[in-house]
Amino acid sequence: MTTSPVADCLFCRIVAGEVPSTEVASSAGAYAFRDIDPKAPTHVLVVPRTHAPDLAALAVADPAGLAAVGELVGEVARAEGLEAYRTVFNTGAGAGQTVFHAHAHVIGGRDLGWPPG
Ligand code: C5P
Repeated sequence: MTTSPVADCLFCRIVAGEVPSTEVASSAGAYAFRDIDPKAPTHVLVVPRTHAPDLAALAVADPAGLAAVGELVGEVARAEGLEAYRTVFNTGAGAGQTVFHAHAHVIGGRDLGWPPG
């Protein structure tokens, strides 16, 4: 499985700075930016700098990249002042995944119902 940048992957291009984004936090292994279509007052995407299509594939191909995503999720939550928040990894089109580069949605700043829809 490749973890190298993929030319036609939107999030690889955002990580490379080829497509503009609003940065929230950054580290050697991951990058966080605001979702262009926010579903809550805070809606940030945290992506690994390496390419893997989803969470499970990332865990196999690049465990350090997965750890970097988790660490940056915490940094985003602190920076946004979130005491409670939700992290979502959609996997597969049937679950709503539209960009096939692993990413955590960090959603907060409003009441979050459970179970999610
Ligand atoms: O989980 P899913 O794959 O649907 O999430 C992709 C997310 O990427 C969406 O929430 C969408 O609004 C966001 N997006 C973005 N910037 C783009 C294209 C999509 O923030 N240029």
